[in-house]
Amino acid sequence: MNKRKLVGAFVTGVMVFAMTATAFGAGNSTAAGGSLTSSAVNKTLAAAANVQQDFYITEITEDLFKKIKGKSYKDDCTLPVSHLRYLHILHKDLSGKTKEGELICNAFIAKDVLDIFKSLYAANYPIEKVRLVDEYNADDEASMQDNNSSAFNFRFISKTTKISKHGLGLAIDINTLYNPYVKMVDGKIHIEPANGVPYVDRNAAFPYKIDKNDLAYKLFTAHGFEWGGDWKDRKDYQHFEVPDSVIAVLYPNNK
Ligand SMILES: [Zn+2]
Repeated sequence: MNKRKLVGAFVTGVMVFAMTATAFGAGNSTAAGGSLTSSAVNKTLAAAANVQQDFYITEITEDLFKKIKGKSYKDDCTLPVSHLRYLHILHKDLSGKTKEGELICNAFIAKDVLDIFKSLYAANYPIEKVRLVDEYNADDEASMQDNNSSAFNFRFISKTTKISKHGLGLAIDINTLYNPYVKMVDGKIHIEPANGVPYVDRNAAFPYKIDKNDLAYKLFTAHGFEWGGDWKDRKDYQHFEVPDSVIAVLYPNNK
């Protein structure tokens, strides 16, 4: 998806969300075609129902808000909670076992992110954990050290009133321990998470590695996201974000 499409998706966000629910209904026309046996039809319908149950988007409920308030939704959070969505997804671990995942991101990217996780799941792409960062007390370092994948965590860019991209829920980190953030600071290498040192060498072979041949890279960039591994002044191999040019349209006052 190109940048214009991303903006378009936001404008018609409600419509896109409504279409999600009917997409599975449309899929049933295969069954009506008569080429499947009734047991195959039942299986197809059951599978469609499960996908709908396992991959879904909701608004932030009151119960969930209580869980994130003062954690990822900091007390000084200036992003309206109505801009956020909860995603329930499935993902596969390294051994191919199915696990449940939860994340919170901006409504603008919710449908894209859900579709990306559906494709990753279908392709057996390994993701170790997709837990709410609130389970780590909204501590990014603790979440990354645990190789957790997550999106929304409110913060301002230091010494400004500008909300960071994770603070807007417009950035997502995947398999964080194996895809660290790396920057040179005063001639010294700075790595987040601190236990990600073995994975700074991107020529080495290890699981969960994101590079340009990687499916997560291909899907996120196809949906219009920018990859932190493409940056020149620093590398953030775990990180996919909505480009500045799009955010400037969505949040023109975020300066
Ligand atoms: Zn990130």
